[in-house]
Amino acid sequence: MNAIQTKPTILIVGGAGYIGSHINCALNERGYNTIIFDNLVYGHESFVQWGKFILGDLADKNQLRLLFSQYKIDAVMHFAAYAYVGESVTDPYKYYINNVANTLNLLEVMQEFDVKTLVFSSTCAVYGTPQEIPITENHPQNPINPYGRTKLMMEHIMADAAQAYGLGYAALRYFNAAGADPGGRIGEWHDPETHLIPLVLEAARDQSRSITVFGTDYETPDGTCIRDYIHVNDLSSAHCLALDHLFDQPGEYVFNLGNGQGFSVKEIIDSAREITGRGINVIYGQRRPGDPAKLVGNAQKMLSTLNWTPQSSSIKTILQTAWDWLQVKEQKYKT
Ligand code: UDP
Repeated sequence: MNAIQTKPTILIVGGAGYIGSHINCALNERGYNTIIFDNLVYGHESFVQWGKFILGDLADKNQLRLLFSQYKIDAVMHFAAYAYVGESVTDPYKYYINNVANTLNLLEVMQEFDVKTLVFSSTCAVYGTPQEIPITENHPQNPINPYGRTKLMMEHIMADAAQAYGLGYAALRYFNAAGADPGGRIGEWHDPETHLIPLVLEAARDQSRSITVFGTDYETPDGTCIRDYIHVNDLSSAHCLALDHLFDQPGEYVFNLGNGQGFSVKEIIDSAREITGRGINVIYGQRRPGDPAKLVGNAQKMLSTLNWTPQSSSIKTILQTAWDWLQVKEQKYKT
């Protein structure tokens, strides 16, 4: 008789947030067991629609110990980080404490309980101002703000932990995560919202609002910044592939997650007009400090090593799913 195979249990730290909740959904669709650990500072309990929810904070190491002693955790995915670049400049301690010190609590407790598999949410902000486009994983790492430095520090710490304790990890450097679950169950919901796509769509929904374009004098074809937008469901499939790969071949991995194509702020606004069929009021404003003209990733390594096949990252699909989610958010959550 065959032994019953149970799928591994994955602890998703920050699993009530935008990206973490989509990955929770993807893992459950693939049959994994998940435990969602989130302090709900930025996450939404209503996003925890799969797995078991535990309200908690990485600052509390004893709570982590209790969690790891109660459940047999096979791997950890870590999304719980502060990610407002501007705030990281004005309040760096907040970022170093949460994104580095509290994450060290997690790593230490993983080590205590012999959990050696970690998928870590990193960012293209670890590269700083690009020297060449598209950016590969070998591009020099010179982050230009504390947020990017916290993520780079964590990459160094994980590399040291791999050597010293045999930690297996994948650091996934996202470009611009966007879009939403096509079923409208979860989506992008930050408070405050600072990201381009939700703000553009909000301006389409509510005609009293407008979108301010941050700078029109960049060295790009239309003068506005170019970014690489990747659908959150494509991020999810990449995380699942990285996790399976770590289980099969434990090691140290770093991958860019982007779609290799850039879109300007003006192109996003034009596409949003088309998809929503609405007018969008635009204000042309000043540059936002710290914004490079162009950030586009080369994700060839992920595509070829793990056979990653992004399926939802056309601008049309990104905007359509984000637009559909906005209607749900308005109706269900009265926002
Ligand atoms: N942006 C903008 N107006 C806004 C928000 C963003 O023009 O209200 C621009 C921003 O300067 C950048 C791009 O849109 O070039 C994407 O910004 P976002 O904050 O969404 O992501 P980031 O690239 O900063 O991670």
